[in-house]
Amino acid sequence: MKNIAVIGAGTMGNGIAHVFAQNGYKVSLIDLNEEGLNRGLATITKNLDRMVAKEKIDENKRNETLANIRLFTQMSSGVKDADLVVEAATENVDLKLKIFSQLDGLCKPEAILSSNTSSISITKIAAATKRPDKVIGMHFMNPVPIMKLVEIIRGYATSDATTSEVVEMSKNLGKVPVECNDYPGFVANRILMPMINEAIITLHEGVAGVEEIDTIMKLGMAHPMGPLQLADFIGLDVCLSIMNVLYDGLGNPKYAPCPLLVNMVMAGKKGIKSGEGFYDYSAGPREAKVSATFQ
Ligand code: NAD
Repeated sequence: MKNIAVIGAGTMGNGIAHVFAQNGYKVSLIDLNEEGLNRGLATITKNLDRMVAKEKIDENKRNETLANIRLFTQMSSGVKDADLVVEAATENVDLKLKIFSQLDGLCKPEAILSSNTSSISITKIAAATKRPDKVIGMHFMNPVPIMKLVEIIRGYATSDATTSEVVEMSKNLGKVPVECNDYPGFVANRILMPMINEAIITLHEGVAGVEEIDTIMKLGMAHPMGPLQLADFIGLDVCLSIMNVLYDGLGNPKYAPCPLLVNMVMAGKKGIKSGEGFYDYSAGPREAKVSATFQ
């Protein structure tokens, strides 16, 4: 496998394209318009420049990596030679079903189709194609160039051959692939999101304030970031949608999203991306202070 197509040049897509290109793969990066593609490429360039400045890679590697990436606004041209597609478009089930059904018609019959979805069923996505044995989850973590894990999700029909190809490929990227089966939230979010939701419930019930909860979890559990700060980083809308997937898919009230989380998302307080969540980012993401609402 040497030709990779990445669908979506957003937060995850540009990181995924960066990592494949840096490891010698030819990458077609596809998004809806030039603006999205240019933003993605600018992020990749900035991250490569930072790696050069830190002497993690040299100038040649930076230039080779950029030369391995081609940009497309048309999915049909971007995916036609792909051996592997990694879909990292917006987290929306109808959108993903449409993309996979299109990919099935556009890609070579032997191509593997993977999704970076955080929570949508791989089995459901695979059923939109006529090659469910070649559909798999490749759940990279944010920020992709730094985080080692790739959660490999086997759908109901994913074959052993597909799984082992994707596991090998993840190792070639210097990542650590870990397999799991396709159930709501897979493993990472099945465990992480209820912890974040419980932190929000703890705040909502007045057990402790934002900084107290985050400091207790950081210093007490050696977590690099507190759960409320992490929720702001991930996006509160994303956290809510994953809690809803767990709640609907597992049918257990313990997964009900905290009403405070629901309200904050409805009020447009989505964390770093909207400038405010549990913390206020008006002075920039590195200058976070507790939001006035919680003081
Ligand atoms: P994002 O909003 O930053 O980027 C999504 C990109 O997809 C946008 O640039 C959008 O224009 C593009 N897009 C939408 N429809 C498209 C189409 N039909 N064809 C091509 N491009 C299209 O989102 P993101 O945070 O990068 O998330 C992407 C996927 O990765 C989601 O499935 C998400 O659940 C998953 N994910 C996100 C994170 C995270 O921390 N952000 C972590 C792991 C997995």
